[in-house]
Amino acid sequence: MVAQRSLMVQIKELQDELGFAVIFVTHDMSLVSHFSDRLMVMYAGQVAEFGPTRQVFDAPQHPYTIGLMDAFPSIRGPRVPLTGIPGSPPNLARLPQGCRFAPRCPKVMTRCEQQPPELYHVNGTLVRCFLHADGEAGHD
Ligand code: SF4
Repeated sequence: MVAQRSLMVQIKELQDELGFAVIFVTHDMSLVSHFSDRLMVMYAGQVAEFGPTRQVFDAPQHPYTIGLMDAFPSIRGPRVPLTGIPGSPPNLARLPQGCRFAPRCPKVMTRCEQQPPELYHVNGTLVRCFLHADGEAGHD
């Protein structure tokens, strides 16, 4: 952990000095929260949510992102029981017809199982969820 942090600090210093972009592909939410400006949450090969890291952490909009946040302990907040996301990701060779998260989503609606949602603009983030379909459609 100390080695990881030291490496990340060095990458950050090099980034500041040379001005290159860094893409982290990780499940380590703590790492993401400290070292990224923008966060893209992927589910079953698609973008579920994309926006400024702090905003996605503070106000996640997609049910999968909300589930992810509830599955990681906070180092600042009170101690609360962690909850997982029931079920498993879909087989990528046999994807659901509608939303890829529908079989696991606590907010699933009839529409979700019939057609795939687009990405919608929600307060500076992009969210692939019909709960936000009143926002302008973004880019896939
Ligand atoms: S589109 Fe429907 S199933 Fe998919 S994440 Fe949103 S509410 Fe859940």
